[in-house]
This record gives sequence, C-alpha cells and structure tokens, in this order.
Amino acid sequence: MALNTGCSTAPKNAEEQPNILLILADDLGFNDLGFQGSKDLSTPNLDTLARNGVIFTDAHVTASVCSPSRAGLITGKYQQFFGHEANIPPPQLGTDTTLVTIADVLRDNGYRTGINGKWHIGYEYNYHPNSRGFDHFWGFLGGHRSYFPENYPPENHKAIYTNRTHTPFTGNYLTDTQADEAVKFIKDSNEPFFLFLSLAAPHAPMHALEEDMARFPNSDRPEYAAMVYAMDRAVGKVVQHLKQTGKFENTLIVFLSDNGGSPVNDSNNSPLKGFKGNKFEGGIRVPFIVHWPKVIDGGQSFDGLTSSLDLFPTFLDAAGIKKSSELELDGTSLIPFLTNEKTGSPHDMLFFRKEMAAAVRHGNWKLIRLDDYGYVLYDLATDPYETTNLKNREPERFESMKIALENWESKTVEPWWSENPKWQEVTSDIHQDLMNNRPIRRISPD
Ligand code: CA
Repeated sequence: MALNTGCSTAPKNAEEQPNILLILADDLGFNDLGFQGSKDLSTPNLDTLARNGVIFTDAHVTASVCSPSRAGLITGKYQQFFGHEANIPPPQLGTDTTLVTIADVLRDNGYRTGINGKWHIGYEYNYHPNSRGFDHFWGFLGGHRSYFPENYPPENHKAIYTNRTHTPFTGNYLTDTQADEAVKFIKDSNEPFFLFLSLAAPHAPMHALEEDMARFPNSDRPEYAAMVYAMDRAVGKVVQHLKQTGKFENTLIVFLSDNGGSPVNDSNNSPLKGFKGNKFEGGIRVPFIVHWPKVIDGGQSFDGLTSSLDLFPTFLDAAGIKKSSELELDGTSLIPFLTNEKTGSPHDMLFFRKEMAAAVRHGNWKLIRLDDYGYVLYDLATDPYETTNLKNREPERFESMKIALENWESKTVEPWWSENPKWQEVTSDIHQDLMNNRPIRRISPD
C-alpha cells in the first residue's frame, strides 16, 4: 500500500510531469569524464549529455563515503540529523524508516518508481527499497560485489535480488546488465517514471571486460578506464532507448557520483585535493550534470554552491508536486537557477561531518575540523588545492564559521552506529597528512 506523504500534485501539471532518471556513479573521480577534463578516459555519452545540459562546477554530496551520502540524497536531509552518519550500516539498521524518501513522494503522486543497482542503506525488510518507496528493485543491498556472474547466497548483501526475490546473476558484466535492466524497467513503466540507476561502477573490485581494456592499450590504469568506459556505455544505452521511444525530451536526467574518487580504484580527482573518505574537496565535490531539454537550455555551466540535498526538492519542483508542510528538506530546487528565474547560489553554506571530521563551506571559504588535529581555514578562490591555512589571518571569519558549524551540529543526533575503529584511525592519519601537505601514506582498506 502506498504511503501517504501528504505531498500533492497540482492538477495543471499532472499531464506534463517529466520522467526522472537519477544516475549515481560510485567512487568516480572528479576528473574522470571527458567533460570534466579527462585526457585518458573515454565517456562520449556522458559528454554529450553534459554538453546539452548543465555542468555544475561546485556541487557536493553530503558525505565522502557511500552509505551516508546515499541516505542524504534519498531523504533530502542532512543524514547527521537522523543518525546515518557513519558508513555501512550494521545488519539490523539503515536509513531511519520514519523518514519519507523521494521515491515515497513520487510514488504517492503517480510515478512508477524503480531502483537498479546498489542500495547500501539498510538490509532488513523495513529498510529494503520496496519498503522505501520503490515499486521495483533490481540489484544488491550491500556494495563491493563482483561485476561478473558470481552468485552469492541469498543472505549475502552482494546477492542480486528482483524486489525481495533472490535472482542469481546470469548476465555477462554487471554494468551492462544494469543498463539492460534499466531499459526493461522503462519499457515496463507507464509514464511518468522515476528510475534511480545506482551504478556499481567504478567502485572496486577492479573488474573489467578484456575488450574494454583493449581500448586503452597505453593506459596506466586500464581496468579503471575500462570500467568507466562501460559505465558510459550503460548510460548511452538507456539514453538511446529514451530517444527511440520519444521520452528523451521530457525526461529530467541527473548524473553525479556518490563521493569523490577512491584511493584504491585508480581514480583521479584533479584539480582537487583529497579523495573518498576525507573532507578535502576531492572527497565531497563531484561531477554533476542536469539535463532536461524540454525545460532547461543546454550548454550551460553553473558555478553556484550546490548539494545532492537539492535533488529531492528539484524533483518535486519538476513534477509539480507541492511539498507538505511537515516535510522538512535541507535543499532547494535547482530549476529556477537553471531557467534564469534566480541568480546566485542554492546554498550560502554547506556542512559536512562524519564522526571525527567536519567541514563547512561558506561561499568560497572552507573550514575543516579534525578532532585530534584542530582547524584549518582555506580560501578556495585563491587556494583551490587547500594548502594554506588562513585561520590566524582571518580570525573573525574563522570564528563565525566555527560558530555556524557548532549551531548546525546542535541539530544533529548521536550516530546510530560507528565506523570501524581501525578504518577511523587510517582516515585520521590520512587527514593529518593532507592537512600538513605531506605525501599521502598508502592505504589498504579491508
Ligand atoms: Ca561510493
């Protein structure tokens, strides 16, 4: 039975409601797309979408690791407000089930909703995608699964499920099968539909097809290059289907990564500092494009401070759905900024925290706090690589950002679970190296 979210559709918009395709890459490097400046990878389909859409240059996710980032995205709320702060929920927990998800609201307003691929925000019945607003689920509940037909037993979170039924993986390569399943979902759906294509790629394990690797004979990262190429092929296949069926013009497509490139998958976050798991821009600023030919002019670049929190209100706005007064969201619709109705940034400030490490963006200023280190203040306008601590030179700005962080933290709750202490220690060491502009110690996460 559909959840009553209290949000309603304005009748005049109902017949014009766009399809919504949310494509989330996993651990993709900031630089690792043609339109982001990559010289050694090949992403022709995403480059075309970017060229005909809007490229965001300062868009962030709410966490530098998978699970909390996804929790923030799907609820439209800072995940620290509901305890989903650390990565990888324990078996019995997940994203707070008292919260409404974007899928709940869209389904409640006539959308067929689907998720394809990685879930990673809860495993048990009430945390399962089918309990969180999705009519259809094809994918796996955990992460880090094989890209090849390895048939994990049903109790393993890497096992493939169709809805709640274990359906062993019989495809050739996971990324291609995700594309096939996405096309199948669209074929099976009356419009409008909402599809969350949650790609496994290019997260480790580094599994690539030989023929894709053969395209990059001189690469020093052939597996990664091939995985990204296959990811782009999957996007191209879905786009092609939308075009062939006349759905492309009125489908809002958003593409982003769930966090920065990881130090273990050969990704490249240049020109940003840091990577997955830390608070430098390379951990939390991601490639981000919005494409909706019917409403948003292509060929734009948008520099405003943006968050994945903005996707929930953006989708409501696109669908003409009026938010209920009880539903509190932390983002804002991006559409007015892309149709010249509003200027400036969607956000004046953004906040980040995962247990011991926190950060604030205020315009171009960036404050990072590491509990066992202290604070650093950077001016990204003059120091985009975050090297020079201006805390002592800018005492008033430092103090006001510190207070803003503390005020925001006063609204957070105790994390429902904690990070593995060993991993926390490794992260802390890396953070300190980065803060001191020292070379990064090699890490080998389990
Ligand atoms: Ca990730």
